[in-house]
Amino acid sequence: MIIIDGKKIAEELKKELKIEVSSLKARYKKTPCLSVILVGNFAPSQIYVNNKEKSAKEIGLKSDVIKYPDTVEEKVILEKIKELNNDETVSGILVQLPLPKQIDKQKIIKAIDPNKDVDGFHPTNVGNLSMGYASLVPCTPLGCYLLIKKIESNLNGKKAIIVGRSNLNGKPMMQLLLRENCTVTITHSKTKDLKAECLEADIIVAAVGIPELIRGDWVKKDAIVIDVGINKTKKGIVGDVSFSEVSKTAKALTPVPGGVGPMTIACLLKNTIDCFKRSQL
Ligand code: NAP
Repeated sequence: MIIIDGKKIAEELKKELKIEVSSLKARYKKTPCLSVILVGNFAPSQIYVNNKEKSAKEIGLKSDVIKYPDTVEEKVILEKIKELNNDETVSGILVQLPLPKQIDKQKIIKAIDPNKDVDGFHPTNVGNLSMGYASLVPCTPLGCYLLIKKIESNLNGKKAIIVGRSNLNGKPMMQLLLRENCTVTITHSKTKDLKAECLEADIIVAAVGIPELIRGDWVKKDAIVIDVGINKTKKGIVGDVSFSEVSKTAKALTPVPGGVGPMTIACLLKNTIDCFKRSQL
């Protein structure tokens, strides 16, 4: 069984990106910049944003965090996004989610210039991805996709099961695997027999938010299993997959932590560089 070392693969990707950043700086005499908007004091958001900022700086990107109290009005954030959209020195814009309830998340996502949408959540990018055109792709599914490709470069005709249909994870994952000619089934809370669906799969991507939902006897031998879940439990952080059981059956499995998480950040950096390159065309 292969434990897919997301931490190591993310570090390798970051090394490649660092080289790319330095050659972009030399060529354009400019530094790609990621601007992050952080609203409120939600501790996990603060940790994510700190990690994103630290990683951006490590590879030579500029990074700038704009903080607001959780009482901030929606129009203030919309004004700031407008300003960042028009600022030529800003390559990518990320608004850290979740947002307080007075702020309409969809309005915020739609306000971001699709060419600076490092999260790949803007409807233009979602539409382009689903039509198979060039687009910015949400960081977590992009990271999952790169991990799968490390294990199996040719996915032609593979049967993939995605557990969870969120806009953030499940749906973009489906598009990425369809592009690779997988036969994709997307499952959700109303799916009748999830175990039977999983047992058919060559590839399982679990993005649910239920600790250890996917059991050892749900997974066929030789399956690649990607665990997106991050669940706080009494025994610590666990994924959506029972690592102890599935590691006995699958061909390859991501651990939690140390699997998909580090790839999400590396892909955010990749998207920031892609935004910069788009702005130079
Ligand atoms: P979400 O928006 O809550 O979506 C969860 C999905 O799971 C929904 O589509 C839901 O179905 C489905 N579901 C719920 N119960 C199910 C069941 N019993 N059987 C099958 N499907 C079921 O979650 P998300 O934002 O995609 O996040 C999923 C997990 O990934 C969470 O643990 C989150 O913390 C983690 N995450 C990790 C990263 C990372 O970097 N590693 C990034 C983002 C998220 P319905 O649509 O029918 O409700």
